[in-house]
Amino acid sequence: MKNWAGNLEYSSAEIQRPTSVNQLRELVAKAPKVKALGSRHSFNKVADTDGTHILLDALPQEVVLNKEKSTVKVSGGISYGALCRAVEEHGYAIHNLASLPHISVAGAIQTGTHGSGVNNPSLAGAVVGIDLVRANGEQVTLTAADDDEFLASVVGIGALGIVTGLELAVRPSFQMRQRVLTGLPWDRALANFQDIASSAYSVSFFTDYTGDAIPQVWLKALDSEPALPDLFGATPATTALHPLPDMSAENCTEQLDIAGKWLDRLPHFRHEFTPSNGEELQSEFLLPLHHAPAALQAVRGLAEKLAPLLFISEVRTIAADEYWLSPFYRQQSVALHFTWKPLQTEVEAILPELEEALRPFGARPHWGKLFTPGQYDFGALYPRFEDFRALVQTNDPAGKFRNGLLDSVLGVAVAS
Ligand SMILES: Cc1cc2nc3c(=O)[nH]c(=O)nc-3n(C[C@H](O)[C@H](O)[C@H](O)COP(=O)(O)OP(=O)(O)OC[C@H]3O[C@@H](n4cnc5c(N)ncnc54)[C@H](O)[C@@H]3O)c2cc1C
Repeated sequence: MKNWAGNLEYSSAEIQRPTSVNQLRELVAKAPKVKALGSRHSFNKVADTDGTHILLDALPQEVVLNKEKSTVKVSGGISYGALCRAVEEHGYAIHNLASLPHISVAGAIQTGTHGSGVNNPSLAGAVVGIDLVRANGEQVTLTAADDDEFLASVVGIGALGIVTGLELAVRPSFQMRQRVLTGLPWDRALANFQDIASSAYSVSFFTDYTGDAIPQVWLKALDSEPALPDLFGATPATTALHPLPDMSAENCTEQLDIAGKWLDRLPHFRHEFTPSNGEELQSEFLLPLHHAPAALQAVRGLAEKLAPLLFISEVRTIAADEYWLSPFYRQQSVALHFTWKPLQTEVEAILPELEEALRPFGARPHWGKLFTPGQYDFGALYPRFEDFRALVQTNDPAGKFRNGLLDSVLGVAVAS
């Protein structure tokens, strides 16, 4: 079995598709090594195991709205596409979305997947409850009231259990409009980064770091938000655009300020469009928002080396949260995302240089994308890192949810 990008093959010895949570609990309890696999959209081996892979797609796929609490309860294996359609049918919305809806809700939240918006937390920000099967097969429901274990488990990089259900906050459905600006001069962007990033509900900058201007800035505004008073030297696009020059915009969500529903504007690509497989790799680095201008300048210094390997880079912002291993733990963040050409050897060769350039800004890597674990002092980057390790040791003493990537981040599991 390969991941979505096709750049890695999983090492699992068997695959199980339990049809009930009780069956899943038994499987977990007796397996020496086990791991949940979501929609396989991660680019590294965070989801790998040499034991049993558990797929949750045969479990009952529930979406149960609680209008009094303004929450929705979903099964662990459901995708954002299915979730969004279900809540919208009842007049509700999720606060934010990643760039594509095909990813599983549980897998996305485990790695801290996010969209954009200075005041929008990552997708994990909507979680109010989580059903988890621990390494011993016990099932627990954790909520914010459970404090520590909840805060450790929501963005748990698959190390603390298998998520069979999630309760997510919803809000009334809302309308948005999307506008693309072209040719934002770099000097204006760097001087006014926070103002521009804050100028709409969700803002994304698309660049390859070369030249004097950022080719595209996508503004996703709530219908109630006023139009931008100042375009900072950029020009509004007069036709729909794809983030990559020369690509048709037909698969992109509607632009040109035409109002539409949140689920048809927040993702860059239309729900009904299935992206092709295996034609790109991704990395992403998250750092405090106030460092954005200096960090972007540092990456511009590498532009000539990066550009031949890049399809495009997207720069987004994310609100702070409290999840121990979230890349946004207690810091309002800027995210420097790199969509690479499928040239893994060359990408892995340039990554340490890029990571070194971003190290002074306290950059944390996206858990589901390509990075070099040896480049990071995770204990220094994550104030609750030692607490997370201790909880993993207590809840999974035999290391059954561990794999090579988790060992390189958390240290090799010590059987107790
Ligand atoms: C085309 C594309 C676009 C993307 N866009 C974005 C984006 O806009 N923003 C962003 O932040 N990221 C983005 N990503 C990255 C992606 O969101 C993450 O890699 C995410 O983890 C993928 O979810 P998945 O279900 O495929 O998880 P997998 O890759 O299958 O697994 C990821 C981790 O979650 C664990 N896991 C999965 N299911 C469960 C479960 N039920 N219980 C416990 N653990 C579980 C796995 O064990 C593993 O540790 C993108 C990826 C692709 C391929």
